[in-house]
Parts: sequence; C-alpha cells; structure tokens
Amino acid sequence: MSFAELGLSEAIVRAVTENGYTQPTPIQAQAIPAVLKGGDLLAGAQTGTGKTAGFTLPMLERLLSGQRAAPRQVRALVLTPTRELAAQVEESVRTYGKYVKLSSAVIFGGVNINPQIQRLERGVDILVATPGRLLDLLQQGAVDLKKVEILVLDEADRMLDMGFIRDIKRILVLLPSQRQNLLFSATFSDEIKALADGLLNNPAMIEVARRNSTIEIVSQKIYGVDRDQKHKLLTHLISERNWFQVLVFTRTKHGANKLAEQLNKADISAMAIHGNKSQAARTRALAEFKSSKLQVLVATDIAARGIDIDQLPHVVNYDLPNVPEDYVHRIGRTGRAGATGEAVSLVCVDEHGLLRDIERFIKREITREVVAGFEPDPNAKAQPIQLRSQEHRQRSGPRTNNRSGAQPNGDKRGGGGGGSNGGAGGRQPAGKPTRSGSGQSTQATSPQRSQTPRTGLSSTTSGRPALGGQAAANANQQRRRSGQR
Ligand code: AMP
Repeated sequence: MSFAELGLSEAIVRAVTENGYTQPTPIQAQAIPAVLKGGDLLAGAQTGTGKTAGFTLPMLERLLSGQRAAPRQVRALVLTPTRELAAQVEESVRTYGKYVKLSSAVIFGGVNINPQIQRLERGVDILVATPGRLLDLLQQGAVDLKKVEILVLDEADRMLDMGFIRDIKRILVLLPSQRQNLLFSATFSDEIKALADGLLNNPAMIEVARRNSTIEIVSQKIYGVDRDQKHKLLTHLISERNWFQVLVFTRTKHGANKLAEQLNKADISAMAIHGNKSQAARTRALAEFKSSKLQVLVATDIAARGIDIDQLPHVVNYDLPNVPEDYVHRIGRTGRAGATGEAVSLVCVDEHGLLRDIERFIKREITREVVAGFEPDPNAKAQPIQLRSQEHRQRSGPRTNNRSGAQPNGDKRGGGGGGSNGGAGGRQPAGKPTRSGSGQSTQATSPQRSQTPRTGLSSTTSGRPALGGQAAANANQQRRRSGQR
C-alpha cells in the first residue's frame, strides 16, 4: 500500500516521500481514507504510531478544494494539550503541506500574544492551538471559528487529564454545527467516551495496537543502584558506553536541574527542560538535542510529552515514574517507527514498589543488571519518594487534579505567573475539586513497597510482552485510585 493509493494528491505524496516515508503506518492506512470520505473519526492511537500524518495528510487534501481562509477565519482547527505537541503538529502540517498553497499557524500560551493576533488577522487555513490561549484570542476577537470545516482533538485523553474539558466545551460552542470532527486518543476512559458521544456523528472507528510493539523492540534494562549514586552511575554509563542523544527522565523539575548541572560538571553537555523553563529555553534545548549538539536532555514527564525525535537511541529513567503507564510513554521515545532503542532505568531501594507496578502493567519482568563499582547496599532502607520539587511544593500548596502533579504547559492564561512559564502555576480545572485527600500527599510512601527486599532486583527473566486494553484500564484505575495525577 502506498500513500498515492490512499487517495492523496501528487503534491502531498511528494512531500511525504521527500520526508522519507515510503509506506503508510497502520493508523495512516486506516485513517486517511476514512477522513477523506468526510465523516467523523474516533481513533485510538498513541504518539509514535504516525497518527499526526494520519490526520494531517487527509486534512490537507480536503482543504485543497474550497476557498482560502478569510481574515481572522480558520478552516481547520487542531487542539492539542501541550505547546510542544502543538508546535510539532504544525511543523508536520508545514512539512506535508510544502507543495500546496495552504497556510498554517500555531498558537500556545507562555509567549507574547501580539504576534499571534497579527498572524491570525490574515486568516489561517490550519490553526494548531492549545485550548487556553485559543480562548484568550477568541475573547479578544482576534480569531473567528465560524468557518471551521474540520476539528481535530489530538491526544484528547491528555487534554482531559490536564483539566481542559471546560475550555474545550467553550470552544466547541463557537464552531459551526456542520463540520468534520476527528478525535484521537490513546485511551478510552468514560470521560473520553462522553466527549466522543457529544462530539462525533456516526464516526468511523479505528484502533491501532497500543505500544506492545515498542515494548517488544525496545531493549529494557534495570540497573540497581543506591539513591545517592545514581548521577555517578549515569555519568559512568554515558561516558563509558559513549551514549549520544540521551533523553533522561526525572521525577521533579528540581531533580532535572540538579542532574543537568551534575552532568555538565562531568563534561557531559546536558540541559533540563520542564515547565519552569521559558519557551525560548525549551525550544533551544530541543533544537540542540535534535541536532546532536547536546548530548543529554533531562526532562520531566510533562515537558517531554510530544518530543518527537526519530530513532532516539537512549532513554533513561533516572527516577521511575509514579504511574506505570508513564513508563510506557517514556520508553516509547525510543524505538520509533521500527527502529530499535534502549531504555534503562536506574532503580534504588525506594522504587522497588514502583518497579513491581510497572512490571505488572507491561506483563513482563525487566532484565536486572548491576554495574561493577555501583553495587547497591543490600541493607539500605527505603525512604519516601518525593513526588514534587521542594521549592515547588512550598510555592503551590495542594496538588491540582493533574497528571503527575505538573501543570498543563503552554496554556497559562489570565494573571499570575506571567508569560515565560506555562508549566508552573497553570490552571486549576474549574469546577473540579482538587484531590487534597489521601492521594494528594506531597510525599508518597508505601509500607509494603518500602520493605521490598533488595533481592527483588536480581532476576533476569523476561516474560511475554502484552500491553492490552486491560492493562491500560488497570493503570487508569490505579491512577484514579491513587490520585497521583
Ligand atoms: P506520531 O505518532 O505522529 O507522533 O509519529 C511518530 C513518528 O513516526 C514520527 O517521528 C514520524 O516522523 C514517524 N512517521 C510517521 N509516519 C511515518 C511513516 N509512514 N513511515 C515512517 N515513519 C513515520
């Protein structure tokens, strides 16, 4: 099956081919013809499946016919949860739309609004936006959505997780009733189903395999290590094994900054990206990392969302994520589009319970190794895990109802906090109570977990990989129960 056979114009196929794609991915093979027919679509696909081209290509094709956008008008609107994802989707629009005369723009919070107002003044065929900033611009009369022909909700589950449902609803009422709706989501919670029910009209339904494939092609390894030896072990691994383009995940923003400093001191070029960094700093760090000028990018989960770099060779979990599903998202940053990748996790005694949860979730045991000179102390006692930076906790008080305690980035509206920082501060999902009960403690410790003996990190078996709907459902359930996100 080729892109041309899917019904795309020569100009679009040419751009796709120039980008190095020869075969449509499964989501593309199914979504492109469905979208070209003009009906609504409900697609279950995660990042890494090629979903962006899955909606971008047919959207471009459909917009080829019809009038270009008039001043302040928009013909296709793509809503995304984060500014990084918004920027990447719009970059895809420009890449695939290279040979067609359609205009595009991206808008998100945390940057000066005036250039966005000026850009919208001319009208935009395809607008990619985060919900909060779009509402700001709508309120200012800078943009008009009455002529939207196609609406895409990308990573809808994440948008809901991040508390955007009210914003989305406020945007939906401003759209014309006659339009095509495409909803992409990695998971199908009751909330997503309710959103889809209200939004979609007799949709085509597509679901591509979840990330089992990633689980299979990414080589995963656990290095047992003492808590205070992690940065030395990481330095050792990077230097000894000559790793380049290493994406490292930390639990907190403070942890990301500290690790980047430690690596730099060891002559390993590293930068941290997280919600407290300005958009300019994040963009620069990403660009340098992409071009391999920067050896290591240290990121928190929220900041890393949407990072789209082909064939990222190394992903390191410096801290294990609190939610097993995030482990799969993290390691999905490597082994993309068929490439093999390596994901290693540095695990100390505090994290044995988290590791067990992850293994239960992915239904396999991960190979354990110990690096000579970094053997963990068999008598070490587990300590509570800090879920957030000390400094952040002091500033922001109780956690919000949000994934991993971080804030929606890219969409800070109204007063407070200013423009450089969409990640910290953020919005409180209006109308939703904060989860300040048991699951909201800023420190988490699980008695059973803490007591896990160190020998839990010694087996080397590897089971059958399977990350099906049930596993995902379990993780969601667990997430809801724990209130950690
Ligand atoms: P996405 O799921 O949209 O984030 O895309 C995941 C990755 O797959 C991106 O890095 C794309 O550049 C890449 N990709 C998308 N479509 C194809 C294709 N047909 N063939 C190879 N790689 C692709």
